[in-house]
Amino acid sequence: MTDYLKGGEYLTPKKIHADRAARELQVDWADGHRSVYDFTTLRWLCPCAFCRGEAGMPGWLDSNPELSEDQTTLTDMSMVGQYAVQPTWADGHHTGYYTFARLREECPCREDNERRAAQRAERSGSSPHQHG
Ligand SMILES: [Zn+2]
Ligand SMILES: [Zn+2]
Repeated sequence: MTDYLKGGEYLTPKKIHADRAARELQVDWADGHRSVYDFTTLRWLCPCAFCRGEAGMPGWLDSNPELSEDQTTLTDMSMVGQYAVQPTWADGHHTGYYTFARLREECPCREDNERRAAQRAERSGSSPHQHG
């Protein structure tokens, strides 16, 4: 487990801003890191049971659906306690609680992409260039 997943200040957002014109969510973290998720990326990350499946059943997103404009347009977002945000999408979907830990883990920046690639390689025990 990486440090920031253990919680604490590192994964606390200082500022969360949904920029509807740019269609992106901007998160400034307590450690100074900035994450920018475009709405489509964010929609694909929806962690709810409908999108992700449950009890071993695949979810809606697992069927690789074609997302409509409504489904990738953020209309509202509320805080869930001190640990998550809950976006509402233009198609009415609002059951996903995006924890800060998950948002930080899925940060789409290059640095974090490389970190995830390195972690995958570590887990599989092979170089990132090999299959698997
Ligand atoms: Zn969902
Ligand atoms: Zn990042």
